[in-house]
Amino acid sequence: MRYASTRDPAGTAGFGEALQRGLAPDGGLYVPTSWPHAQPEDLAQDRSLARLATRLLAPFVAGEPIAGELEAITDEAFSFPAPLVPLDSGPKLSILELFHGPTAAFKDFGARFLAATFGRLRRSNPQPLTILVATSGDTGGAVAAAFHGRAHFEVGVLFPKGLVSPTQERQLTCWGGNVRSIAVHGTFDDCQRLVKQAFTDSTLREQAELSSANSINLGRLLPQMVYYAAASLQIHRQHGERASFVIPSGNLGNALACIWARQVGLPIERIVLAHNANRTVTDYLQGGEWRPRPSVATLASAMDVGNPSNMERLRAMFPDLDGLRTAVTADSVEDVDIRRRIRLGFEQYGQIWCPHTATAAEVYHRLAARAGGADRLPGRWVVVATAHPAKFPEIVEPLIGRVIPVPDALARLLARPTACTEIAADLAELRAALSRRRV
Ligand SMILES: *Cc1c(COP(=O)(O)O)cnc(C)c1O
Repeated sequence: MRYASTRDPAGTAGFGEALQRGLAPDGGLYVPTSWPHAQPEDLAQDRSLARLATRLLAPFVAGEPIAGELEAITDEAFSFPAPLVPLDSGPKLSILELFHGPTAAFKDFGARFLAATFGRLRRSNPQPLTILVATSGDTGGAVAAAFHGRAHFEVGVLFPKGLVSPTQERQLTCWGGNVRSIAVHGTFDDCQRLVKQAFTDSTLREQAELSSANSINLGRLLPQMVYYAAASLQIHRQHGERASFVIPSGNLGNALACIWARQVGLPIERIVLAHNANRTVTDYLQGGEWRPRPSVATLASAMDVGNPSNMERLRAMFPDLDGLRTAVTADSVEDVDIRRRIRLGFEQYGQIWCPHTATAAEVYHRLAARAGGADRLPGRWVVVATAHPAKFPEIVEPLIGRVIPVPDALARLLARPTACTEIAADLAELRAALSRRRV
């Protein structure tokens, strides 16, 4: 399989190369040059996520030196489940729980696959690689967890000091060892700018080889297809129907993986993007004008994106707006409705949802209301749960009036001692922070 840049179809790369580069040299994003055809009947035999992943992803790494290690990679990455939980009072509605990994968010799947692959690609290279990641939420923790303790890797996690929740900050600063947590006096945009500057800084590049692990990396996108495959196959097996998904969306990486899963032949019907008050995509699909804008802060902060980078991949796949509108629909939810849906989810179903999941649940309920009731909404529906609510106790607990039980893995993280370096939003300070000896 070759991967082409969204900006230049001639500039192709193999899987390993595309993964290590992140961005194509022309600034575009890598997309597959052809679509393999998965046979749902073949895939349906694989009952474990890891084996399903191996079979589904094999064509995407075909011809690469790493291909023979795919099974070992998927064993490492898919070592926790992604259960589909039916809701009692709505037999046609299920929740796909993607939060059973080490940092309790779906980003663990992509980060762990990326780390397992990266580790093998660079096994023969003794030169350490520094992974820089700017984060305002779950990415930093997932990437830190996935690379923590891996020989020949250093990780720098940059986050905006004081602009992440106390619980999030603990997940970003509890690592030590080969992970440096860097609290930047500035905004998330400052963190991103610093990472970009670092990549073009000759001093830093002399000190260490740099790479990124952000959500446009193919190594994070491809594995996300796997849980959509598993969920849609399960529904097809049990009910003979195609599944429709409502996906909490920000940068559109998770939704794109679902679109790719449908593209290779999995039994997926509708794909609905659930955004928060950052309406760029919703407005585009409704009005036809692409108008990226600065992000606004919401309760579902991991989706606070005003200029989703994966839109470039979506538009390359569906060049005309009508085609895109057939492929996906979108809706946006304000904070008041996120809060209300968290309350209602608990009252109606006994479910405790994080603000991102509640955004998708609200979009589902609007669809049902428009159809004249859940019974009238055709098909089987899946609301994707992207994070465990215990990551957001400050928001969720007052709404449901009780303390959220913390999963063991997350409790272990939160109990670790924390440490971080504070810097001004300045490249010289980042250089100093990265060259300091490990603690
Ligand atoms: C990152 C994240 C999202 C948004 O996913 P995208 O792939 O950026 O669209 C949604 N929910 C949670 C909990 C996240 O961490």
